[in-house]
Amino acid sequence: MRPEILFPLFAPIGALTGVGPHNAKLIEQAAGPRVVDLLWHRPSGLIDRRYAPPVAEAKPGSIATLTITVDTHLPPRIPRLPYKIYAHDASGQLALVFFHARADYLLKTLPVGATRIVSGRIEMFQGLPQITHPDAIGTPEEIESIRTVAPVYPLSAGLSLKVITKAIRLALARTRALPEWQDPALVARHTWPSWHQALLALHAPQSEADLAPTTPARRRLAYDELLASQLAVGLVREHLRQRPGRPTRGDGSLRARVLAALPFNLTASQEQAIDEIERDLASPNRMLRLLQGDVGSGKTVVAFLAMLIAAEAGGQAALMAPTELLARQHYATIAPLAAAAGIEVVLLTGRDKGREREASRAALAEGRIALAVGTHALVQEEVGFADLRLAVIDEQHRFGVHQRMLMTAKGQAVDLLVMTATPIPRTLMLAAYGDLDGSRLTEKPAGRKPVDTRALPIERLDEVIAAVARAIDSGAKVYWVCPLVEESEELDLEAATARHRSLTERFGARVGLVHGGLKPLEKDRVMASFSNGGIDILVATTVIEVGVDVPAATVMVIEHAERFGLAQLHQLRGRVGRSSRASTCLLLYAPPLTQGARARINILRETDDGFRIAEEDLRLRGAGEVLGTRQSGLPMFRLADLGLHSDLLEIARDDARLALERDPTLTGARGAALRVLLYLFERDAVVKYARAG
Ligand code: ADP
Ligand code: MG
Repeated sequence: MRPEILFPLFAPIGALTGVGPHNAKLIEQAAGPRVVDLLWHRPSGLIDRRYAPPVAEAKPGSIATLTITVDTHLPPRIPRLPYKIYAHDASGQLALVFFHARADYLLKTLPVGATRIVSGRIEMFQGLPQITHPDAIGTPEEIESIRTVAPVYPLSAGLSLKVITKAIRLALARTRALPEWQDPALVARHTWPSWHQALLALHAPQSEADLAPTTPARRRLAYDELLASQLAVGLVREHLRQRPGRPTRGDGSLRARVLAALPFNLTASQEQAIDEIERDLASPNRMLRLLQGDVGSGKTVVAFLAMLIAAEAGGQAALMAPTELLARQHYATIAPLAAAAGIEVVLLTGRDKGREREASRAALAEGRIALAVGTHALVQEEVGFADLRLAVIDEQHRFGVHQRMLMTAKGQAVDLLVMTATPIPRTLMLAAYGDLDGSRLTEKPAGRKPVDTRALPIERLDEVIAAVARAIDSGAKVYWVCPLVEESEELDLEAATARHRSLTERFGARVGLVHGGLKPLEKDRVMASFSNGGIDILVATTVIEVGVDVPAATVMVIEHAERFGLAQLHQLRGRVGRSSRASTCLLLYAPPLTQGARARINILRETDDGFRIAEEDLRLRGAGEVLGTRQSGLPMFRLADLGLHSDLLEIARDDARLALERDPTLTGARGAALRVLLYLFERDAVVKYARAG
């Protein structure tokens, strides 16, 4: 139940006396449907009417509040022209300009000979200061109410500043101090105001500086929101942890054989990831671990070794990939290693049919085969496991939570390892999952050389083609990625097709083309020919699979690189540099580059650390866009900005953890206040997880 103290804030906007149904609808479009949404509707600017110079000193372009005496009215001779009023003070003369004016109204508000206050933006016209349509006109007694600073709010079509300002005032009037939910020491250390004071200050900026995300008021409110969200993830997590798991321990025998057969040594971060997974599997709690690492960082081997632990323990493990191609690629990596360990792996995809598929199914159901690799075919109803203990899901962003659940439902208390090649910035990880266990592969396997990354204007296409010719003559394979023209496959395809045609004119059958419209079999055929056949240059739309592994590919050309996001460019570049041979990435752009595009290209040239790039991406684009907040299931923040308040997020994480440790039922004095906080920020769906005393 929502605490009663918050009821007035969760009323619909229409419930505010003074806001009619028409305006309520407009306000809803700008801010949201409830009173509380108005509280979180932050000013985007302010109008400062405190500047009150003598007329002659009023700076053009500034907003000034002037005390003037009206001299003459000059109605227009023809209706198109403005109505002008001349006025003065001791320092000089001023014109007031009105289009489509009503003379009777102007004569009443600005009578000749009267002293009046006018406020508006100063322009210079033919050497004379003027104000077109003053924002405010009043008598000298009204100067105090005109010479003020007022916030400016984001609006929606048809909504006036006046209307929303009034609604926000009414909403604020409904608020009052709430019991402090923050740790007093923390509040004191940061010299933060109380929630209520902070809220009032947020809506009463006195200067531009007050609009900054760094003011104590804004940071306090951002922290409130972050703490609410961290408490929520903490509660969910605690709840999940309580679900019984099963300890799975292996004797290391299979792993030892595989490690002996590997043609390389594991990197330190691979070793560490495997240790972490091994510990999770052995614990009686369920594992939910995210394995993050750039394309080519060697996640598959880690996943496979984890799967072997399940097999050593007499259980089964499955690896699910989002596409046929990736499933087959994983299988191709894993099968020979499994053979070295003397165990079998089943491949199960939508394409396998008939007797073979039947045999695979039976082998898994009866537990004769311990390991399975496949697509979502693995979660189909007719697929069963004798004792599935570990599910590994590759490239999680392509699967819904639903599929994850189907996969883990194939066994008892299945441990889950999710692999992603999209490095999620730490900040976003924290915001979305709290302290979800994560393993990161931060190093490239030994012997890999950094990709030489260069940016070139498209005018230098001839040079690029010459370089490509040299590269393929020396045995290299080249990716050529075509621009994302719009959010339209069709248009993308046109550009790719045209490039394919022009490159074919020059290089003949050595050029191939893949795009989203190809049938899966056709796509596989082209990819296979690129991987180890006659195709040396692969023209592709951005559909080329994230995980595709063609070690011989050493050149990546990206056309219209300025149109891609940073993370996307990084992913594309990750397709090369996958062997000990030197690789090159050529970013072709159409000048002039915007500042943002230049920044992206520069970062890319500077570093190939996916995690750093992800953080930079977050900084450049803001959290909302990085993962497409809504689809990604990330929480929405109204007061916190993950790019700007990430320091607070870390504190909130620790704070939430400590608070839940001390008071898991949220029933103590602070606990009760924290419940109010959860409701205030609508993270209350999880309150039921606050363990019953
Ligand atoms: P990811 O799935 O992270 O993109 P993969 O697991 O497909 O990366 O590994 C990419 C390539 O690197 C594979 O050919 C794999 O055999 C190889 N590889 C993995 N780990 C190492 C290592 N420690 N040293 C050298 N090569 C490695
Ligand atoms: Mg992979």
